[in-house]
Amino acid sequence: MSGTAGGGIVFDAVTKSYARGAVTTTALRDVSLQVAPGTIFGVIGYSGAGKSTLIRTVNGLEKPTSGRVLVDDIDISSLRGRALRAAQKNTGMIFQQFNLLETLSARDNVALPLRLDGVSPADARRRADEVLDFVGLTDKAASHPGDLSGGQKQRVGIARALARNPKILLSDESTSALDPATTAQILDLLRRINREYGTTILVVTHEMDVIKDLAHEVAVMAGGEVVEHGTVLDTFVRPRADATRDFVDTIVPRGLPRRVVDQLGGEGLWRMLLLDAEVEQPLITGLIRDVGVDVNMLHADMTQIQEHTVGQLIIKVTGSPEKMREAHQYLSERVVELEEVTA
Ligand code: ADP
Repeated sequence: MSGTAGGGIVFDAVTKSYARGAVTTTALRDVSLQVAPGTIFGVIGYSGAGKSTLIRTVNGLEKPTSGRVLVDDIDISSLRGRALRAAQKNTGMIFQQFNLLETLSARDNVALPLRLDGVSPADARRRADEVLDFVGLTDKAASHPGDLSGGQKQRVGIARALARNPKILLSDESTSALDPATTAQILDLLRRINREYGTTILVVTHEMDVIKDLAHEVAVMAGGEVVEHGTVLDTFVRPRADATRDFVDTIVPRGLPRRVVDQLGGEGLWRMLLLDAEVEQPLITGLIRDVGVDVNMLHADMTQIQEHTVGQLIIKVTGSPEKMREAHQYLSERVVELEEVTA
């Protein structure tokens, strides 16, 4: 399989409304984002946030009501007919429900887009076997979807999406129907595609795990708008929008039951995030010995976010006002994020 450089995607003030009789639904509101070539970009949001609509504008399945979608500098939203079909070959897509044809073998499912392009049966078959080998399904080439597991079906879906050697791979909830172990294997495969072929991957999902393990950058959508956008690590450490906080909470729960906060609240109930080497320092010992405050440790956990370790500590500190200020200063200098926990 020859290498492909990934394509860039630019969403430029994209708005999409659906009119049904007197009712207008706005699925996308003024969305502007840039997906750099060769990166893995995640879009997360609850059901109805506009994710599917957004991803479908990239291959021209949806046309923006206003704004533009540039794929490799070409305004895909303005193309029609033959020009659109030619541009669509640069983009492969995978789906939650796999969208395979049950009557065709895995090999014929993968070869289908090539046959529709007019590629000869022998060449299409050769290429299909090549991509099936890449996704680790050589021994299942003759099987029908009904005889494959969910993970194997998604591998066939991925092979089919790769058959035309696309610059961009679009993933619409592609792991949402899979169990955690199979999800991890599919995410591994997507990472390998990105690494080995430089394919740009745009992933939409409602699962923060997928973002945590796969994406370089993330945009959070709510009500058709992008409410937050940044690197994955930054988003985990400093979520700003409510929706982002809720998603981050599914991976790094903010720790304390409300009852405990009510009981212990007030000054000195602090939540800290520690990044990488920060987790190894004797923080609590330092507070007690060097600053001279009392410390009650309430919660501690640690999460791996790609190549980073993020630790969370929640403590209750007591001491004189002056000591409390000193303790706050001491911690601020040593952790990436420090906040008061309030009920
Ligand atoms: P998500 O993928 O985040 O679940 P969607 O992009 O599917 O969100 O939908 C966003 C909003 O647009 C929803 O309110 C949905 O009902 C509406 N919508 C999507 N597609 C259509 C359509 N073809 N006709 C009318 N409304 C639609």
